Amino acid sequence: MIKAVLIDVDNTILDFNKCAYLAMHSVAKDFSITLPKDIENIFHTVNDELWKKIEQGQLTRDELHQIRWEIIFKKCNINADGKKFEKEFINFVWHTAVPVDNAIEILNYLSSKYPVFVASNASAKQQRARLKSVNMYNYFNDIFLSEEIGAEKPSKEFFSYCINKIGFKNNEIVMIGDSLSADISGASEIGINTIWYNHNGVKEPLNAIYNYKIDSLLELKNIL
Ligand SMILES: [Mg+2]
Repeated sequence: MIKAVLIDVDNTILDFNKCAYLAMHSVAKDFSITLPKDIENIFHTVNDELWKKIEQGQLTRDELHQIRWEIIFKKCNINADGKKFEKEFINFVWHTAVPVDNAIEILNYLSSKYPVFVASNASAKQQRARLKSVNMYNYFNDIFLSEEIGAEKPSKEFFSYCINKIGFKNNEIVMIGDSLSADISGASEIGINTIWYNHNGVKEPLNAIYNYKIDSLLELKNIL
Protein backbone atom coordinates (compact mmCIF):
# COMPACT_ATOMS: atom_id res chain seq x y z
CA MET A 1 0.00 0.00 0.00
CA ILE A 2 1.28 3.42 -0.91
CA LYS A 3 1.80 5.66 2.13
CA ALA A 4 3.92 8.52 0.77
CA VAL A 5 4.56 10.35 -2.49
CA LEU A 6 7.89 11.62 -3.81
CA ILE A 7 7.58 14.02 -6.72
CA ASP A 8 10.01 15.69 -9.09
CA VAL A 9 9.66 19.41 -9.87
CA ASP A 10 10.95 20.43 -13.30
CA ASN A 11 8.71 19.27 -16.12
CA THR A 12 6.60 17.39 -13.59
CA ILE A 13 4.88 20.16 -11.62
CA LEU A 14 6.73 23.24 -12.94
CA ASP A 15 7.12 23.70 -16.66
CA PHE A 16 10.85 24.20 -17.03
CA ASN A 17 10.59 24.15 -20.83
CA LYS A 18 8.24 27.14 -20.82
CA CYS A 19 10.47 29.04 -18.37
CA ALA A 20 13.54 28.33 -20.46
CA TYR A 21 11.74 29.50 -23.60
CA LEU A 22 10.67 32.78 -21.98
CA ALA A 23 14.15 33.28 -20.54
CA MET A 24 16.18 32.66 -23.70
CA HIS A 25 14.07 35.02 -25.79
CA SER A 26 14.06 37.75 -23.17
CA VAL A 27 17.84 37.60 -22.66
CA ALA A 28 18.51 37.32 -26.41
CA LYS A 29 16.57 40.54 -26.87
CA ASP A 30 18.68 42.27 -24.20
CA PHE A 31 21.86 40.99 -25.87
CA SER A 32 20.57 41.88 -29.39
CA ILE A 33 21.07 38.26 -30.47
CA THR A 34 18.85 36.63 -33.09
CA LEU A 35 18.21 33.04 -32.07
CA PRO A 36 17.52 30.43 -34.76
CA LYS A 37 13.99 29.04 -35.20
CA ASP A 38 14.92 25.66 -33.76
CA ILE A 39 16.67 27.11 -30.71
CA GLU A 40 14.35 25.29 -28.32
CA ASN A 41 15.29 21.90 -29.75
CA ILE A 42 18.97 22.78 -29.70
CA PHE A 43 18.71 24.01 -26.12
CA HIS A 44 16.92 20.89 -24.90
CA THR A 45 19.30 18.54 -26.70
CA VAL A 46 22.36 20.24 -25.18
CA ASN A 47 20.72 20.70 -21.79
CA ASP A 48 19.55 17.07 -21.57
CA GLU A 49 23.02 15.80 -22.49
CA LEU A 50 24.62 17.97 -19.81
CA TRP A 51 22.09 16.93 -17.15
CA LYS A 52 22.67 13.25 -17.97
CA LYS A 53 26.37 13.87 -17.29
CA ILE A 54 25.49 15.45 -13.95
CA GLU A 55 23.28 12.45 -13.08
CA GLN A 56 26.24 10.18 -13.93
CA GLY A 57 28.63 12.24 -11.81
CA GLN A 58 30.69 13.33 -14.83
CA LEU A 59 29.87 17.03 -14.60
CA THR A 60 29.08 19.50 -11.83
CA ARG A 61 26.24 21.99 -11.85
CA ASP A 62 28.78 24.84 -11.84
CA GLU A 63 30.44 23.39 -14.91
CA LEU A 64 27.09 23.20 -16.67
CA HIS A 65 26.61 26.93 -16.11
CA GLN A 66 30.06 27.59 -17.57
CA ILE A 67 29.55 25.68 -20.80
CA ARG A 68 25.82 25.37 -21.60
CA TRP A 69 25.31 28.49 -23.71
CA GLU A 70 28.88 28.37 -25.04
CA ILE A 71 28.03 24.98 -26.60
CA ILE A 72 24.64 26.21 -27.86
CA PHE A 73 26.10 29.36 -29.45
CA LYS A 74 28.83 27.30 -31.11
CA LYS A 75 26.21 24.95 -32.59
CA CYS A 76 24.24 27.96 -33.88
CA ASN A 77 27.29 29.86 -35.18
CA ILE A 78 26.44 32.76 -32.90
CA ASN A 79 29.30 34.92 -31.80
CA ALA A 80 28.36 35.90 -28.24
CA ASP A 81 29.56 35.44 -24.68
CA GLY A 82 27.89 32.23 -23.53
CA LYS A 83 28.93 32.68 -19.90
CA LYS A 84 27.39 36.14 -19.65
CA PHE A 85 24.27 34.92 -21.42
CA GLU A 86 23.99 31.97 -19.04
CA LYS A 87 24.18 34.30 -16.05
CA GLU A 88 21.21 36.36 -17.25
CA PHE A 89 19.38 33.30 -18.51
CA ILE A 90 19.59 31.50 -15.18
CA ASN A 91 18.67 34.67 -13.30
CA PHE A 92 15.46 34.83 -15.36
CA VAL A 93 14.71 31.11 -14.93
CA TRP A 94 15.30 31.27 -11.18
CA HIS A 95 12.70 34.00 -10.87
CA THR A 96 10.13 32.42 -13.16
CA ALA A 97 7.84 29.51 -12.41
CA VAL A 98 5.04 28.25 -14.63
CA PRO A 99 2.96 25.39 -13.21
CA VAL A 100 2.35 22.38 -15.45
CA ASP A 101 -1.35 22.01 -16.39
CA ASN A 102 -3.41 20.81 -13.40
CA ALA A 103 -0.36 20.69 -11.12
CA ILE A 104 -1.96 22.67 -8.29
CA GLU A 105 -5.15 20.57 -8.46
CA ILE A 106 -3.13 17.38 -8.30
CA LEU A 107 -0.96 18.59 -5.40
CA ASN A 108 -4.15 19.46 -3.57
CA TYR A 109 -5.47 15.95 -4.22
CA LEU A 110 -2.26 14.09 -3.35
CA SER A 111 -1.55 16.08 -0.20
CA SER A 112 -5.07 15.40 1.09
CA LYS A 113 -4.33 11.64 0.93
CA TYR A 114 -0.58 11.24 1.50
CA PRO A 115 2.44 13.08 2.83
CA VAL A 116 4.10 14.52 -0.29
CA PHE A 117 7.84 15.15 -0.68
CA VAL A 118 9.85 16.92 -3.37
CA ALA A 119 12.80 15.11 -4.96
CA SER A 120 14.75 17.47 -7.19
CA ASN A 121 18.24 17.90 -8.64
CA ALA A 122 17.83 21.62 -9.31
CA SER A 123 19.68 24.33 -7.38
CA ALA A 124 18.29 24.49 -3.86
CA LYS A 125 17.83 28.24 -3.48
CA GLN A 126 16.23 28.47 -6.91
CA GLN A 127 13.85 25.58 -6.38
CA ARG A 128 12.59 26.77 -3.00
CA ALA A 129 11.97 30.28 -4.37
CA ARG A 130 10.17 29.00 -7.46
CA LEU A 131 7.89 26.67 -5.48
CA LYS A 132 7.02 29.54 -3.13
CA SER A 133 6.30 31.93 -6.00
CA VAL A 134 3.46 29.73 -7.30
CA ASN A 135 2.13 28.83 -3.84
CA MET A 136 3.19 25.18 -4.08
CA TYR A 137 5.62 25.15 -1.17
CA ASN A 138 3.09 24.38 1.54
CA TYR A 139 1.85 21.20 -0.12
CA PHE A 140 5.06 19.41 0.83
CA ASN A 141 5.96 17.71 4.09
CA ASP A 142 9.63 18.04 3.19
CA ILE A 143 11.79 19.04 0.25
CA PHE A 144 14.72 16.83 -0.75
CA LEU A 145 17.23 18.64 -2.93
CA SER A 146 20.35 16.95 -4.26
CA GLU A 147 22.49 20.00 -3.59
CA GLU A 148 21.64 19.80 0.12
CA ILE A 149 21.85 15.99 0.32
CA GLY A 150 25.19 15.82 -1.50
CA ALA A 151 24.00 13.20 -4.01
CA GLU A 152 22.02 13.51 -7.24
CA LYS A 153 19.06 11.54 -8.50
CA PRO A 154 19.26 8.73 -9.66
CA SER A 155 21.94 7.67 -7.14
CA LYS A 156 21.18 5.16 -4.41
CA GLU A 157 22.48 7.70 -1.87
CA PHE A 158 19.83 10.23 -2.91
CA PHE A 159 16.89 7.84 -2.70
CA SER A 160 18.15 6.14 0.49
CA TYR A 161 18.29 9.55 2.14
CA CYS A 162 14.68 10.22 1.11
CA ILE A 163 13.47 6.82 2.35
CA ASN A 164 15.14 7.32 5.75
CA LYS A 165 13.64 10.78 6.14
CA ILE A 166 10.16 9.70 5.03
CA GLY A 167 10.18 6.78 7.45
CA PHE A 168 8.21 4.27 5.36
CA LYS A 169 9.39 1.17 3.51
CA ASN A 170 10.61 1.46 -0.11
CA ASN A 171 7.54 -0.30 -1.46
CA GLU A 172 5.23 2.02 0.47
CA ILE A 173 6.58 5.03 -1.44
CA VAL A 174 5.88 6.12 -5.01
CA MET A 175 8.12 8.38 -7.11
CA ILE A 176 6.46 10.53 -9.79
CA GLY A 177 8.69 12.17 -12.40
CA ASP A 178 9.25 12.98 -16.05
CA SER A 179 12.79 11.67 -16.34
CA LEU A 180 13.28 7.96 -16.92
CA SER A 181 16.99 8.33 -16.15
CA ALA A 182 16.88 10.59 -13.08
CA ASP A 183 13.53 9.83 -11.45
CA ILE A 184 12.32 6.44 -12.54
CA SER A 185 15.38 4.20 -12.92
CA GLY A 186 16.97 5.25 -9.62
CA ALA A 187 13.77 4.91 -7.63
CA SER A 188 12.81 1.56 -9.12
CA GLU A 189 16.31 0.14 -8.56
CA ILE A 190 15.94 0.75 -4.85
CA GLY A 191 12.42 -0.73 -4.73
CA ILE A 192 10.34 2.45 -4.78
CA ASN A 193 7.17 2.32 -6.92
CA THR A 194 7.32 4.57 -9.97
CA ILE A 195 4.98 6.62 -12.12
CA TRP A 196 6.53 8.00 -15.27
CA TYR A 197 4.92 11.25 -16.38
CA ASN A 198 5.70 11.59 -20.07
CA HIS A 199 5.53 15.38 -19.99
CA ASN A 200 7.43 15.84 -23.22
CA GLY A 201 5.52 13.17 -25.13
CA VAL A 202 8.75 11.35 -25.91
CA LYS A 203 8.87 8.01 -27.68
CA GLU A 204 9.14 5.35 -25.02
CA PRO A 205 12.50 3.58 -25.00
CA LEU A 206 12.36 -0.22 -25.22
CA ASN A 207 14.11 -0.71 -21.89
CA ALA A 208 11.88 1.63 -19.87
CA ILE A 209 10.93 0.21 -16.47
CA TYR A 210 8.13 1.77 -14.44
CA ASN A 211 4.93 0.73 -12.65
CA TYR A 212 2.61 3.23 -14.34
CA LYS A 213 2.86 5.71 -17.18
CA ILE A 214 0.73 8.85 -17.44
CA ASP A 215 0.40 11.54 -20.11
CA SER A 216 -1.50 13.99 -17.89
CA LEU A 217 -1.18 14.71 -14.18
CA LEU A 218 -4.93 14.22 -13.75
CA GLU A 219 -4.46 10.51 -14.46
CA LEU A 220 -2.82 10.29 -11.02
CA LYS A 221 -6.30 10.37 -9.52
CA ASN A 222 -6.97 6.95 -11.06
CA ILE A 223 -3.78 5.47 -9.63
CA LEU A 224 -3.32 7.06 -6.20
MG1 LIG B 1 12.08 16.63 -14.19
